[in-house]
Amino acid sequence: MKRILVLGSNFAGVTAAISVKRKLGNEVEVLVISPSRNFLYVPSLIWVPFGIRKVKDITFAVEPMLNKKGVKFIHDRGVKVIPNRNVVITEKNGEISYDYLVVATGASLNFDILPNLNPKDKMIQCIVTPELAEKSAIAFEDLVKNPGPVVVAATQGASCMGAAYEYLFNLDKYLRVRGVRDQVDITWITPEPFLGHFGIGGIVGGQTMLEIFMKMYGIKWHTNATIKKIEKHNITLGDDTNIPYKMSMMIPPFLGADVMKNSPELVDEKGFVITNEGYQHINFKNVYAAGLAVEVIAPFKKSAAPFGVPKTGFPSDVMGKIVAENIKNDIKGNGKFKTMPFGKIPGICIMDAGKKEVWILTNHLFKPRQFELMIPNIFYNFGKLILEKYMLWKNKKGLVQLP
Ligand SMILES: Cc1cc2nc3c(=O)[nH]c(=O)nc-3n(C[C@H](O)[C@H](O)[C@H](O)COP(=O)(O)OP(=O)(O)OC[C@H]3O[C@@H](n4cnc5c(N)ncnc54)[C@H](O)[C@@H]3O)c2cc1C
Repeated sequence: MKRILVLGSNFAGVTAAISVKRKLGNEVEVLVISPSRNFLYVPSLIWVPFGIRKVKDITFAVEPMLNKKGVKFIHDRGVKVIPNRNVVITEKNGEISYDYLVVATGASLNFDILPNLNPKDKMIQCIVTPELAEKSAIAFEDLVKNPGPVVVAATQGASCMGAAYEYLFNLDKYLRVRGVRDQVDITWITPEPFLGHFGIGGIVGGQTMLEIFMKMYGIKWHTNATIKKIEKHNITLGDDTNIPYKMSMMIPPFLGADVMKNSPELVDEKGFVITNEGYQHINFKNVYAAGLAVEVIAPFKKSAAPFGVPKTGFPSDVMGKIVAENIKNDIKGNGKFKTMPFGKIPGICIMDAGKKEVWILTNHLFKPRQFELMIPNIFYNFGKLILEKYMLWKNKKGLVQLP
């Protein structure tokens, strides 16, 4: 019986693990190793700082669900992959061998690009993990009690601009709800060349829409911006503009997870797994990757303010399914190999723009596209909520075959 080892138990890991088990049943043993006992619906972290969600509202225990689907779960952390020997070294269980490995370990946060960017230094907030999002909720309450200027930023090298925009617009909304918006100057800093580029080249009408939102909500912005210095109460941009702040939230660049940074045969200089378009490692043919863990090269010219490509939930799901299909093909020896270049995966996202949610739909993530749409939901803001409930339900039931 072949053993398929999956590192990571969130979007990409759960999808790949259950999909491959569904396809191959008793022909394979599927093991998921993860330090997280809970599945986390990451997109709803943007609501935690405003008290709209608690972390417990957007998590569920992953092990019982995986077990029901015939997948074993090991609560442990991969430390290093040794692909020449087909083993993963783990923190608690020593070496675990595999016939096929699926890397779905997400990303780590690169706070080292700037002194004082790390929330540990108590100057800047971040919302990318449950712990940091909960701390940001305390910072928001402090701001409401003691208002002052706020800087929200995606730093140079960041790729998750969408989440930063969502935080920005929700900040505006909830400061209004709490009656202190008129005492808070909000400034948005982004490495994007224009508002609404999002690291995917923009969407027709998106720049105009976001400029209108910024003007309507009274938010100042700096595009093509880098951050040079973070000091207590002052942020200096690359062009020496100084912006005072009382509270600031910044999204840093992502790197591969530590386990992958420790596995140099498999990754690029940032720790992302180098794959072909079937999400199979370019040299080690029994190693696959899905989701945030995959290296994606941005099809944009390098600029003074560099930024990356967002690897969002839908592509993570698609990659997880392609990986499962290709492992099945390999085991069955049918000569088939499924591919889907990252840039050709459809883009499906709902952005919470505070007072209004905005639907973003494209037939390809990267241009050229035959179809692209960015429209505010003119009826009611139900899309993001329904998506959250649906995704939590779908993953809790392990129904990964659904879209
Ligand atoms: C604040 C925020 C908002 C977002 N909003 C949206 C949105 O609205 N729409 C959208 O489509 N996308 C959104 N995204 C992106 C989306 O969350 C990611 O695409 C998705 O989480 C990627 O899934 P993944 O499984 O690849 O990685 P992750 O979800 O990060 O999961 C990684 C898994 O690997 C595990 N792991 C880590 N290290 C190890 C190790 N050493 N050994 C074993 N396992 C390990 C982790 O515990 C976790 O289970 C958002 C992201 C953020 C941060």
